[in-house]
Amino acid sequence: MIIKNLVIAASVACTGISIIWGVRKYRILKVDSRQDMDSHSNITMEPIVAAKSLEEELVPKIEIEKASPKLVQDITLPSPVTETKHKKNTKELKNPLQTSEYYTIEEFGAPNTLEYRVFLKKGTTYLSPFHDIPLFANKSKKTYNMVVEVPRWTNAKMEICKEEPLNPIKQDIKKGNLRYVANCFPHHGYIWNYGALPQTWENPNKVDERTGCRGDNDPIDVCEIGHRVAKRGQVIEVKVLGCFALIDEGEMDWKIIAIDVNDPLSEKLNNIDDVEKHMPGLLKATVEWFRVYKIPDGKPANQFAFNAEAMNKDFAHEVIHETHIYWKQLIHNQGTGLDLENLERTCVNVENSQFKVDGVKVAEIISALPTKQAPAPVSPEIDKWHYVHLQKL
Ligand SMILES: [Mg+2]
Repeated sequence: MIIKNLVIAASVACTGISIIWGVRKYRILKVDSRQDMDSHSNITMEPIVAAKSLEEELVPKIEIEKASPKLVQDITLPSPVTETKHKKNTKELKNPLQTSEYYTIEEFGAPNTLEYRVFLKKGTTYLSPFHDIPLFANKSKKTYNMVVEVPRWTNAKMEICKEEPLNPIKQDIKKGNLRYVANCFPHHGYIWNYGALPQTWENPNKVDERTGCRGDNDPIDVCEIGHRVAKRGQVIEVKVLGCFALIDEGEMDWKIIAIDVNDPLSEKLNNIDDVEKHMPGLLKATVEWFRVYKIPDGKPANQFAFNAEAMNKDFAHEVIHETHIYWKQLIHNQGTGLDLENLERTCVNVENSQFKVDGVKVAEIISALPTKQAPAPVSPEIDKWHYVHLQKL
């Protein structure tokens, strides 16, 4: 009997201790959680995980705390609140790896070979990136379409081919070999997404009054300075910020500085001075890059007009406007003053141009191309760094 009473007493005592321990633990957890909410200190999942192992009656209290928007925000749980926010951000930014809403590319032959070609298409229709893509992406906002020829950090000198019908993008050739730009320390390949504005042409028969140089016979060049690496053949909407007046072996070779309108920094960049403010060093690096990039190939340093100062956006818009007028004369075969037999003006969209062709002719052009193949190997020589002494220029 005595033993039985002792067992009962011990059992009651243990139950009491358990209840007290449980209540204390609940209180500690509750205090910890409140402290964290108030102090915004580092909150871990431990109190909440531990709470799930407590008595069922505690769970609803913890669930209420989990559902608190403030707590969710502080500890960035993957709750519906944060998911909704993420989806909204994703929607605001277009996928940079897709070409524009309208344009796609089709490749022919093997990359890194003489035969490789990139054609641009709108839907199922092949077109010329030189002549058929409108210059303006949004005329009222003064934004332009840019055709990306060379994605940032790559070396292959890809460009819109002026001599072949529908002007596919192909790699430039020098003395029978594919051309790669040298890496001049500390740069690697091109330091921006590099390309051209469609429906522009630097007329070699016109002497630029501002610089005394003739045009280089190409569409006008663009350096797109946004943070994303674009794709070859991508068409992106850009905001123009300014330009440099490069004199390349005596020819006028404007370099437009622009940014993808979908870049997060685009809203802050509205003129050339904003570039130095938000991207310190970029303009200086751009001048250096253009000065030296042909030196490893045995050519002299390039020169700039205007003491290598960047011109502002109004100046750049004016230059683009001029080159657009020259292009109009070119595509309508009016007063260019040159024998342009080698310059391919085949197009599919330009109304009233004598060079406009129909689908039958386009099919004929495309059927003559090689099928797409795997890339050919590239010599490791293109990764070489060249040390050019800028102070001696
Ligand atoms: Mg050029």
